[in-house]
Amino acid sequence: MSLLDKALVLFSGGQDSTVCLAWALERFAQVETVGFDYGQRHAVELEARPPIRARLAMLSPLWRSRLGDDHVMKIDALAAISETALTREVAIETGETGLPTTFVPGRNLIFFSFAGALAYRRGIKHLVAGMCETDFSGYPDCRDDTVKAMQLALSLGLDRRCVIHTPLMWIDKAATFALAQDIGGAPLIDLLLAETHTCYLGDRQHRHAWGFGCGECPACRLRADGYAKWKAGS
Ligand code: ZN
Repeated sequence: MSLLDKALVLFSGGQDSTVCLAWALERFAQVETVGFDYGQRHAVELEARPPIRARLAMLSPLWRSRLGDDHVMKIDALAAISETALTREVAIETGETGLPTTFVPGRNLIFFSFAGALAYRRGIKHLVAGMCETDFSGYPDCRDDTVKAMQLALSLGLDRRCVIHTPLMWIDKAATFALAQDIGGAPLIDLLLAETHTCYLGDRQHRHAWGFGCGECPACRLRADGYAKWKAGS
């Protein structure tokens, strides 16, 4: 990896992808971001993206100089799969397992395909994404083997070397807070708590020590537990 290399971060506006963006800004000469718009439930997350980018740029002159263009890709077909009766029967089952009913199987495979095509057009070799195997077994498209297979598929299919970085793959939520502390200190932690969004219900009304959210959904509980564990150990 050369410092002259450019990176494209899959940036949702959530906590994990924000830590990944900071991680990339420490390492690459130029860092662009891409977000995916595929339905109303994620409007809160998408709205969080511009303020997070602006605040990251204010944390460090180096980061400001490296932060490049933002891209938002609208994927209507994905919205159709998540919202319509096409998958309704399985969607009920999905709700019972604690995953959001808008969950789309293999969603990250689609994101990587679009991100890979965009990166190709932008002359970018490195993709950075916040997938994690440690905390969450619910999403098979977050697994390390899935990501490695996508890296190979993109490199072959685009006939250009593509490297996918997943800095959070083997660490839990507490260690993600610790990583953020190492990268950007208290100002980055404050940014994560105030600006990033994780809650499945899109709750921005209730502020807790660990950030905004309903406090009850699996994403909120994971974040709250991770914050408490990090605080207890730091
Ligand atoms: Zn929640």
